[in-house]
Amino acid sequence: MNGLMQQQPLLISSFLQNAQRHHGEQLVVSRRVEGDIHRYTYRDLAARARRMANALAGLGVKPASRVGTMAWNGYRHLELYYSVSGSGAVLHTLNPRLHPDQVVWIADHAEDEVLFFDKTFLPLIESVASRLSTVKHFVLMVDKGHMPEQSTIANLQCYEDLIAGASDDYEWPVFDENKASSLCYTSGTTGSPKGVLYSHRSTVLHTYASALPDALSVSARDTVLPVVPMFHVNAWGFPYSACMVGAKLVFPGPGLDGASLYELFESEGVTVSAGVPTVWQGLLNHVQSNGLRFSTMKRTIIGGSACQPSMMETFEDTYGVQVIHAWGMTELSPVGTVGILKGTQLGLSRSERRAIQAKQGRSVCGIDMKIVDVQGNDLPWDGKTAGDLLVRGHWVVQNYLKAEGSPLVQSGHHLWFPTGDVATIDADGFMNITDRSKDVIKSGGEWIGSIDLENIAMSHPDVVMAACVGARHPKWDERPLLVVVRKPGSEVSREELLGFYEGKIARWWTPDDIVFVDAIPLGATGKMLKHKLRDQFWNYLTERQD
Ligand code: AMP
Repeated sequence: MNGLMQQQPLLISSFLQNAQRHHGEQLVVSRRVEGDIHRYTYRDLAARARRMANALAGLGVKPASRVGTMAWNGYRHLELYYSVSGSGAVLHTLNPRLHPDQVVWIADHAEDEVLFFDKTFLPLIESVASRLSTVKHFVLMVDKGHMPEQSTIANLQCYEDLIAGASDDYEWPVFDENKASSLCYTSGTTGSPKGVLYSHRSTVLHTYASALPDALSVSARDTVLPVVPMFHVNAWGFPYSACMVGAKLVFPGPGLDGASLYELFESEGVTVSAGVPTVWQGLLNHVQSNGLRFSTMKRTIIGGSACQPSMMETFEDTYGVQVIHAWGMTELSPVGTVGILKGTQLGLSRSERRAIQAKQGRSVCGIDMKIVDVQGNDLPWDGKTAGDLLVRGHWVVQNYLKAEGSPLVQSGHHLWFPTGDVATIDADGFMNITDRSKDVIKSGGEWIGSIDLENIAMSHPDVVMAACVGARHPKWDERPLLVVVRKPGSEVSREELLGFYEGKIARWWTPDDIVFVDAIPLGATGKMLKHKLRDQFWNYLTERQD
């Protein structure tokens, strides 16, 4: 017997309609690439998103067409979030920090038809435009006055002209909630990047769950400033959840340094923010060295890589800002677990509570998780036993775009997504990441694929073997360190090998240093035992004498 309730597909456009109808006067404030502060309301956002939906149709965008963006956090990007997905097309957010070759590969793989980009990225897009084989329209996200006098891109279009030339008379279409809404590529640590294709259903369910008080906790009384970029896993869902609850939204644009962020926090009365630890380090340095205080900030969500307990302490004890530690992945839309205490834990001592909050946290309802050993057997939730972390749920990837085979593994009665992280889970369900089974290097919250770096080094005629591992760095958390075995008799220098990377990868991927060794330890199957190197050289960059 079926229930007798209305059935409406779960669609992203419902958030915008809700924001317009019930929070029409609420503000969206953006620091623009042009340098000034722009402010308008959710009602304005909705009207311009409808205009853009009409403009997209005029460009030939159809349901399922991929529309790429390369943009900072800002109101025009938000308009694209809603106009592209809301009209049934797929929003593909490109990460500008990738090497241009990767940008080309990803845009081609996604078959992007239109590419919208901020002026910051004009030189990058100009340098790759001729290689983007599927892109038919290039749109610069500025008004007429900020269009360049000339560009190597023929028929470069102007965002504000598109908006001005389109009607705001548009009905958001209703379609199957399982249709694709947006696309985000993982950093591709083993070979090519992988496309995670979110659906309207997965995104809407993720939005409802992530806004809960025990998750990222957003409400109509909040002013939210997502520092986490809209090109990285949909800015952890804030562009959707803020509209869903009617929170004031503040976008930092390209200004991610401590001083710019602090200024916006104070001038706009920000209560909640979210980002990776490196960003918060910059903010704390600024606040500490200038003797400043936060007058409105209540909490900040820290994730993407592990939040150091000392950072949590400084935020809470010195500045009265609650830190919420969260874990997630591109493959999870991204929210998986959040470190918020249970009621039964509130009576614990301060140090006991801190120890729990330092963990990555409890799974949000809608995500199930477990840890298993190498044979796939379930491991106990004792807070001590570490195993491979598996997850399943409404907003977890099933297949990568155009990939053969599924990444899922059978365990017990269900199929699970292997996260590649190694973790413990305690009796209260708090998960703690102890290691990554992947060998990626996390620099300032961004991944650097070690295999790419090794392959380049090993293409040098004087290198026999090379391993790249993350070494501890005071500012970036980790930086790549290259461990090299030279050909017998070769004197190839550190400088020459570092110079060998020039032009082959994004500059910030270049290893910070090189160590020459006689041999790299190998495992039974001939694979390099990189965890041994990591242990050996973990403090190398902080202890080296320059
Ligand atoms: P991404 O898909 O780029 O968001 O990266 C996901 C990976 O980042 C996870 O598999 C973890 O290895 C790592 N990660 C995310 N959040 C945390 C956290 N709070 N602590 C430690 N590692 C994290």
